[in-house]
Amino acid sequence: MTSPSNSKAEVRQKLAGLASDLAGHLQWLSEEGVKQVTLPAGRPVIASAPATAAVAASLDPEQAAARLQAIAATVASCRKCRLHEERTRTVPGAGSLQPDIMFVGEGPGEEEDKQGIPFVGRAGQLLTRLITRMGYTRESVFIGNIVKCRPPKNRKPQPDEMAACLPYLRDQMAVIKPRVIVALGATALEGLVPGSGLISRARGKWLTFASIPLMPTFHPSYLLRNRSAMWDVWHDMEKVLEKLGTAPPARPG
Ligand code: SF4
Repeated sequence: MTSPSNSKAEVRQKLAGLASDLAGHLQWLSEEGVKQVTLPAGRPVIASAPATAAVAASLDPEQAAARLQAIAATVASCRKCRLHEERTRTVPGAGSLQPDIMFVGEGPGEEEDKQGIPFVGRAGQLLTRLITRMGYTRESVFIGNIVKCRPPKNRKPQPDEMAACLPYLRDQMAVIKPRVIVALGATALEGLVPGSGLISRARGKWLTFASIPLMPTFHPSYLLRNRSAMWDVWHDMEKVLEKLGTAPPARPG
């Protein structure tokens, strides 16, 4: 039986998900140049997206690179949440300025914290193989995380830490405008679309974040422990490729 406190938590989760969707929709409207929308009751609502979203519409590659560097510089000195206390380096994310796909993981691990580069450990190598199998390279996609500082002892980022860090990811998306987001694992999914449930049930089904199609799938570190789940991930990536109107390269005979 659902307890009153559980059902309150579920309502809060659903409201947080709706708020996230609404913020994304307003951001998209703002990017499209819409200054005001009208509710059925006739009351106007201003589309109040971050300034970066509106600016990004007219960025050339040089400006986009400068904007990404500025975000990375802000991240490097960020102390908005407790994760700054034990970090060695921030890991802002890396990749193309105009990617088809943005992969979003959980947070930096030990190697990433040392190098300042996302997904460089064993899970990163597996992700790189997956990206290559899809017909892309690490340089032609963008790879980031839901938090940009390593959680101590690789623990899961807390909801307040993810909420503090999410604006940086939103700003990066507004600059690079990925066509599809792939959320890697339960934590990334929870950070992007709160209340979307277990990753084992949510994976393989399209969601949206900031009006961008989002495909949840398993995290590569889960695949290291459960190799058979690789097929599930591959089926999810086939849906991503289909959405992008492309197909994986043929395997060498
Ligand atoms: Fe700032 Fe994000 Fe690092 Fe927290 S995790 S200190 S919000 S950059």
